[in-house]
Amino acid sequence: MKKTSSLECSRRQFLQGSAALGASSATVATPALADVTTDDYGARHGTLTGAPAFTNWTRNIRCHPNVLVTPTSLTELQESVAKAKSMKAVGSGHSFSPCAHADDTMIATDRLDRILLVDRQAMRVKVEAGKKLHAFNDELAALGLALPSIGDIDRQSLAGLISTGSHGTGMKWGSFSDQASIQAIEIVLADGSLLSLNADKPEDAEPLMAVRLGLGALGIIYSITFNVLEAHNLEAHSWLMDLEDALDPRHYLENDHFEFFRFPFTTKVKAISRNRTDKPRLEQPIRTFIDKILLENVALGAVLNAASFKPDVMPQVSRLLTHLVPDERRIDRSDKIMASTRLVRAYEMEYALPIAMAKQAHERHASVVADFSTRSDGAFFATFPSECRFLRGDQGNFLSPSQGQDTCFFSAMSHVAFKDYEPFFRAVETELLALGGRPHWGKQFYQNPTSLYPNWTKFLGYRDRWDPTHKLKNIFMDRLLSGNEMLNHIA
Ligand SMILES: Cc1cc2nc3c(=O)[nH]c(=O)nc-3n(C[C@H](O)[C@H](O)[C@H](O)COP(=O)(O)OP(=O)(O)OC[C@H]3O[C@@H](n4cnc5c(N)ncnc54)[C@H](O)[C@@H]3O)c2cc1C
Repeated sequence: MKKTSSLECSRRQFLQGSAALGASSATVATPALADVTTDDYGARHGTLTGAPAFTNWTRNIRCHPNVLVTPTSLTELQESVAKAKSMKAVGSGHSFSPCAHADDTMIATDRLDRILLVDRQAMRVKVEAGKKLHAFNDELAALGLALPSIGDIDRQSLAGLISTGSHGTGMKWGSFSDQASIQAIEIVLADGSLLSLNADKPEDAEPLMAVRLGLGALGIIYSITFNVLEAHNLEAHSWLMDLEDALDPRHYLENDHFEFFRFPFTTKVKAISRNRTDKPRLEQPIRTFIDKILLENVALGAVLNAASFKPDVMPQVSRLLTHLVPDERRIDRSDKIMASTRLVRAYEMEYALPIAMAKQAHERHASVVADFSTRSDGAFFATFPSECRFLRGDQGNFLSPSQGQDTCFFSAMSHVAFKDYEPFFRAVETELLALGGRPHWGKQFYQNPTSLYPNWTKFLGYRDRWDPTHKLKNIFMDRLLSGNEMLNHIA
């Protein structure tokens, strides 16, 4: 990988609030900052033996594939898969968990990035699965179309997004993997054959439950057919709020998209609502660049780096940041309002909880934050706000963390300069598990979650059928299968 700067293409809506200097922005990539992303690993290096080390976005996972393959067509993909002894697909390398880790063949999907079919009548778009979300959004917009709900950033590949159940916020939609989001999938199985699954065919209903959220363990997804909407604008409103008010269900019920970031050591949150509007774009690009890139990301990164040398200042820093949250409105293309630029790296754990547990999650997290800050044997000071999002329950996938219940996604983050975050994350995880939580597959988690999924064995049945010699196994799947704890740092 290329040497990177200390500024990293990065994270979270919180940053808009914690730096408190503006609301969300569209992704902006200046050359100096774009240079550090992992999302073009395959495109940058091309097919070769003895591939350069691969490092994920947050740099906790590193691997040294023997072979890097960057197919440009379905035929090339099928040939590569059939030939490989052991392989794993990588999208943009934005998972915090080692789910894309590959020792032998890494199949980078960057060059599988064409839109294959636009069906305006059915409002469906078929696209090659390596396409990056930001590029897909731009092409959809040019067609007058849009995805209904996306998450905090748009750098991921489409296959990577669905393979981990990535999500945005809003009770009208499920995750990227939700059955309402996806109409069809074409997947190359371990022997190189192509399996086409379509929700219109009753016999495909169950295989789709496995493939829509497949952890990259069932084959290499070649194409995805998404259900889409007409292009539209969203109006974002961000403001400082009391936690108790933010937890009132009316916010997530009455807004198209609602989420909030709670500042540690305080009872304050930065709330963000986003609602569909017919109003035209309302944005000041220069001010947005200064706020979003220079102040929210660069300045915030500098503050947290400095605080890591004297972590006990974090409670004061956090309180100070709450005073800087502006009351702000923006209107723009829907994807530009939902995703933003992240230039500060953080570790992250996210659990899907029954929606009624949102308040308890905040109480328990706050008590862990307080406990760790007063420990005589190695105090730890929380750095990032926790993020709270709301999602319609997923009925249709074996491995969806939001399966069967409307969900509050609660995430704990820690700036990478704060090295001793692991005991803190473990303590938070224990609390979230006790509330009935299930971890986001693409984020960090320690406890093996397979027992939380009644259909785990069914999922493995599809794996055995489609990949009988387990060519798609990797360290992540090995850990899941062993029942042991998961790994979150692999050099
Ligand atoms: C800054 C940041 C912000 C984030 N924000 C959000 C958010 O708002 N909401 C959310 O839910 N998540 C979020 N995430 C997590 C992220 O969306 C997921 O980890 C996602 O899987 C990353 O996509 P990727 O393309 O980088 O996939 P990778 O990390 O490259 O791979 C993820 C998994 O997909 C598999 N895979 C990739 N391509 C294929 C393919 N073609 N066929 C089969 N399997 C494949 C890989 O093998 C692996 O198992 C964020 C992560 C970061 C770093």
